[in-house]
Amino acid sequence: MTTSTRNAAPDPQESLADYVRRVRTALGLSQKELAERAGIHLQSVGKIERGQTTRLKQQPKSGLAHALNIPVDYLDAVCRGVAVEAGATLKFCPHCWVPGTIPDAMWANMRAQYCYLCGSLLRDRCTGCEQPIESLRFRFCPHCGKPYKNAEPRVLEVPCN
Ligand SMILES: [Zn+2]
Ligand SMILES: [Zn+2]
Repeated sequence: MTTSTRNAAPDPQESLADYVRRVRTALGLSQKELAERAGIHLQSVGKIERGQTTRLKQQPKSGLAHALNIPVDYLDAVCRGVAVEAGATLKFCPHCWVPGTIPDAMWANMRAQYCYLCGSLLRDRCTGCEQPIESLRFRFCPHCGKPYKNAEPRVLEVPCN
């Protein structure tokens, strides 16, 4: 079994329970480890994997997506029982995102192109080598070593326009 990003997409017939369990085991995480990484209760993970929870609120959903290293769109799709649309990717705002933290769920929205906080163009690939972002837990591109977020220390306050 591989843990490539492609295999992390839910199958169209997969339930939230099966999907979360599959991605979690592919990552070699216990339910407890997943709960800790996602910032949710162990019982919540158990309920999800037993199929007792079929809808996720925004915060646990973002936490789970981050812990499982998948776009929030994947969890949305599996909750709604629809196939993942092509183009669902890991995206972030190069200005607002703090490397290593959970990216805002709005950035991962498959129709979002600009940051709703500052208007910057969202980024879904490395500016150095154009490889897609592999994980938002990475600070640097594993292919070329360029930081995912602009390295310049310029303080950019939220512009009015
Ligand atoms: Zn922004
Ligand atoms: Zn790169």
